[in-house]
Amino acid sequence: MKRVALLIDNIGLLWTMSAGSEQEDARAFCGREQMRQVGALENAAIAVDGEGRIAAVGKRRTVRDLADAGTMVVDAQGAFACPGFVDPHTHLVHGGSRESELPLRLAGAGYLDILRAGGGIMKTVRDTRASDPAELFAKASASLGRMRSFGVTAVEAKTGYGLELDTERKQLAVANALAKASPNTLVQTALPAHAIPPSRMADRDQYVEDIVRMLPVLHSDGAEFADAFVEDGVFTVAEGRYILQAAKRIGMKLKIHADEMVSCGGAELAAEVGAVSADHLLAASNEGLGQMAQAGVVAVCLPGTSFYLQKRPARARFMIDEAGLAVAVASDYNPGSSPSENFGLTMSLSLLSLGMSPEEVFVAATRNAAAAVDRAGELGVLRPGRLADLVIFDAPNPAYVLTHYGVSHVRSVYVKGQRVYG
Ligand SMILES: [Zn+2]
Repeated sequence: MKRVALLIDNIGLLWTMSAGSEQEDARAFCGREQMRQVGALENAAIAVDGEGRIAAVGKRRTVRDLADAGTMVVDAQGAFACPGFVDPHTHLVHGGSRESELPLRLAGAGYLDILRAGGGIMKTVRDTRASDPAELFAKASASLGRMRSFGVTAVEAKTGYGLELDTERKQLAVANALAKASPNTLVQTALPAHAIPPSRMADRDQYVEDIVRMLPVLHSDGAEFADAFVEDGVFTVAEGRYILQAAKRIGMKLKIHADEMVSCGGAELAAEVGAVSADHLLAASNEGLGQMAQAGVVAVCLPGTSFYLQKRPARARFMIDEAGLAVAVASDYNPGSSPSENFGLTMSLSLLSLGMSPEEVFVAATRNAAAAVDRAGELGVLRPGRLADLVIFDAPNPAYVLTHYGVSHVRSVYVKGQRVYG
């Protein structure tokens, strides 16, 4: 047993998200029965070793004895605590903002209308291309700090506002610098298949080939995942398949922006190519969702995006109850369709608009969100050997955290056993 450097004692209620064995804890929870398991412990304590890993989790009386004279002891004063949140879908690094297009949207213009008019994502592409790395770093670093204040300890970050190699690489370089400078775990995704620049519409096949050529460079720059926006008016299923299969051949893991606006086979494609996650899924077909469950694809719901775009949210109840999927939730933080780093709000919207139970919401934000970035064996569960990433709340119970919405109930946040907030 390693020396205990930190003891977090007197936790009134701890949701560990553990199912028991290490093997079971290395995968997502699927469907209604599993997604209500939160591994609850009352009167708990957590012992952390000098390397920021959990040495023991359990009842106070057993864990407290592991401390010695040199152990730092934190009294949680009977609070509720859970694993640090994993935000598995963000567009963290970008230039500029897009409040100017809100009146257009409120007047009825859709995402694709604004895109076709050269606005929307192309404004962010221009702003990101024009920003120098220091500006992008400062902006993203401030966002990451806001995310931490809501209990987020690990973040997925996508490129996709360059749509040409140099700017895509600039986004990755900024995210790499953030990963070094901040305590958060960052997972990087290459998304040059985010949109087809209007100037490339005439030779879109050539743009798809350009993407395939960019992927190995972005992969060697640190992008672990490749993602593609498969949607009516963006990339077709055939183009998405071509791009994602090319990514898979060079060892990249896969994600898909699937069936956000129309049911076009994105969920089915996610199952076919063996994606780790398929995200959005507002319009996904029953068959597609069923195939995802069969193939072990995590369904990532983005309730902040459907709220901000005033759309009917994804069918999380069907996904959990009927399809038996592993559902995760994410902020989709981006300047156009989800301009908020408030992960607490994402979780409240998961309760209020997706109709998930408090237990399901916390599972979706921790254990299953970790699975959505292929970190199920490392993050999202509090058990011996895992990183000591956790959140302590000022709230009488977990349901209160979600229902008293729009504000933060986070008292303190720990990453690798270090207090990073509160
Ligand atoms: Zn997105």
